[in-house]
Amino acid sequence: MNLVLFGPPGAGKGTQSKLLTAQRGLPQLSTGDMLRAAIEAGTPLGVACKALMAKGELVPDETVIRIIGQRYDQPDCKDGAVFDGFPRTIAQAEALDTMLAERGRQIDLVLELKVDDAVLLSRVETRIKAGGVLRSDDTPETLAHRLEIYYRNTAPLIGYYRQQGKLKTVDGMAPVEAVTAQIAAILNAVPG
Ligand code: ADP
Repeated sequence: MNLVLFGPPGAGKGTQSKLLTAQRGLPQLSTGDMLRAAIEAGTPLGVACKALMAKGELVPDETVIRIIGQRYDQPDCKDGAVFDGFPRTIAQAEALDTMLAERGRQIDLVLELKVDDAVLLSRVETRIKAGGVLRSDDTPETLAHRLEIYYRNTAPLIGYYRQQGKLKTVDGMAPVEAVTAQIAAILNAVPG
């Protein structure tokens, strides 16, 4: 099964992807994690993306399409994957559909985690108050910018996937376990 976890920054996509990986053995393909790993390792890709990511801008479509394609061809994706934070633009969604079609596959389901802006902002503020290691893009100002970009570039994917009949919406403001339960109920209803 190939799933897309979709939603605004801080909606809980990473948390739910990790649970899906643990429960269903589908690898989590997070472009954000891959890019942060490249920055950490100081690769040319990381160097090229660092400033854009810190500002909350998107990195170029070709970049993420390439790294997702390479990652998806690893043997652990033979039964599918959970796409987390990808696609983020219509061009990325079209490239993903093409890549999967070339391999005789398709996106089976898109799970949209719906969370109000005010809740997203309060989640960032809670993380800041809690201290610890924060991402460079985890500030209220950068979040506001990431949200603008989300509504402009990424939210149109809701229509794209709804038209394909693949979109399922989940209340992302419920407690983590309740979100997990909603996702499990949706997946259990998928035939096969
Ligand atoms: P979040 O979901 O909290 O915004 P991510 O880890 O998914 O966090 O992404 C962090 C940053 O990485 C984004 O703001 C963007 O700069 C970059 N990024 C991740 N995925 C993509 C993508 N598919 N297309 C373009 N940029 C991306």
